[in-house]
Amino acid sequence: MLKIHHVYVDGKFRTPHGTELSPLYNPATEEVIGEVRLADETDALAAIAAAKRAFPSFSRTGKQERIAILNRLSAAFTDRLDDLKEAMAEEYGAVRGVLDALVPRASGMFDEAARLLGTYEFTRTSGPNTIVMAPLGVAALITPWNLNIVFLAQKMAAAIAAGATVVVKPSELSATQTQVVTEAVDAADVPPGVINIVTGRGEIVGDVLTSHPDIVKVGFTGSTAVGQRIMRNAAATFKRLTLELGGKSPSILLDDADLTTAVPAALASGFLNNGQTCFAGTRILAPRSRLDDVLEAVKAAMPAFRVGDPRDPGTGVGPVVSRQQFDRVHSYIRLGLEEGARVLVGGAGRPEGLERGWFVKPTVFTGVTNQMRIAREEIFGPVLVVIPFEDDDDAVTIANDTPYGLQAHVFTPDVERAHRVARRIEAGTVLINRIFADHEAPFGGIKQSGIGREHHTYGLEAYLEPRAITA
Ligand code: NAD
Repeated sequence: MLKIHHVYVDGKFRTPHGTELSPLYNPATEEVIGEVRLADETDALAAIAAAKRAFPSFSRTGKQERIAILNRLSAAFTDRLDDLKEAMAEEYGAVRGVLDALVPRASGMFDEAARLLGTYEFTRTSGPNTIVMAPLGVAALITPWNLNIVFLAQKMAAAIAAGATVVVKPSELSATQTQVVTEAVDAADVPPGVINIVTGRGEIVGDVLTSHPDIVKVGFTGSTAVGQRIMRNAAATFKRLTLELGGKSPSILLDDADLTTAVPAALASGFLNNGQTCFAGTRILAPRSRLDDVLEAVKAAMPAFRVGDPRDPGTGVGPVVSRQQFDRVHSYIRLGLEEGARVLVGGAGRPEGLERGWFVKPTVFTGVTNQMRIAREEIFGPVLVVIPFEDDDDAVTIANDTPYGLQAHVFTPDVERAHRVARRIEAGTVLINRIFADHEAPFGGIKQSGIGREHHTYGLEAYLEPRAITA
């Protein structure tokens, strides 16, 4: 059994001051696979102090030094690619397709940051002004359990490129993944104190980080509810915030869409990562004139989303992360029925033949209105809704009638028409005939999906502050 009994502070693995032991599970078997000893407030304070000590010299390092660190981090993550995939499969049931597509993105994040740093101008002049893009200071990076590795790499890469030092607080549900990440960071020979990693509870370590005066920036990916709490905590010391929060993204099938490709793509987005993706297209908007065809196409596409053992290459959907999430997703399936929606495919109860493991049948509801809670709230499991619309205007109105605004998808062979619709959609990203964003585009939400942007220059500048020197 894996025992993770350390935090990473000041370039060293240390036994935490915290003593709480938290079990780690394999969601496909419900078996305990390990335990993590959680950091506490004292560990969080030690990590903040180490990052603060490291900041003055790290913030003055030149581009070449930081590029070399980013290159070493990329190499270290590449060396551990198989272990990272194994940890994600074991700890939250990520399926092969997701692992192969997304885990290499982690080292890619460091490569991209290194490339960007090569050309980025930290000092600019404008009239009598010298504008210096200065690193913010010590940043707290707080991540969820889903795709933890990619989010950690993305945030660390941007902060390191900027010259900021960090205290990382990953989810307590992702300690196995974090262990491999921490070993990779250690192998990359990052100067002591630049990256500190403390796995602990959000309401303990997270609260310390988001309210401590020495933390000047919080980079957070997680739920909208926790994002709100972080904003409240951060207000007292005016911390800079990047908040990547929840979503209820629409996938709009315009009336000329090729349903044989668009419907499988919309389902792939909705069921991505076992339905546990912030930008998943969980509301499929279908033209009323073609509703029956859409529902038939959904049924026809379902064999590609076979639920089962995540290690089986034929599996499309693995388990959800925890017993709590399993119960929560089922409560939404029951709620959908109570609200009057009909199950088109899937439904409550475990899939046939899977007696153990937190497996949920990939479920699609029809007979849904956009006012139902199953259409408004983030379920974070493989449960989608199909909502009919009358025309393009109506599709846009329904797409925007949500508290969220992270991503949207438009399917049509008419790309100009798609652009016209896309410009009217309130979302940080609108994808046309695709379900993955491009890594050079800014990523982030509007409305209750968050504040700020990650990726590329937008992500780098989230860890910098312009300062003016005027002669
Ligand atoms: P969560 O909000 O419960 O937890 C995220 C992190 O916040 C964890 O590390 C947790 O320990 C920490 N946390 C909890 N309470 C805290 C507090 N009081 N102060 C500081 N930190 C605290 O989210 P989760 O269940 O781990 O992940 C799923 C959620 O994340 C979903 O809502 C999903 O949409 C969202 N998410 C968003 C994006 C995005 O890029 N927009 C990406 C992935 C996941």
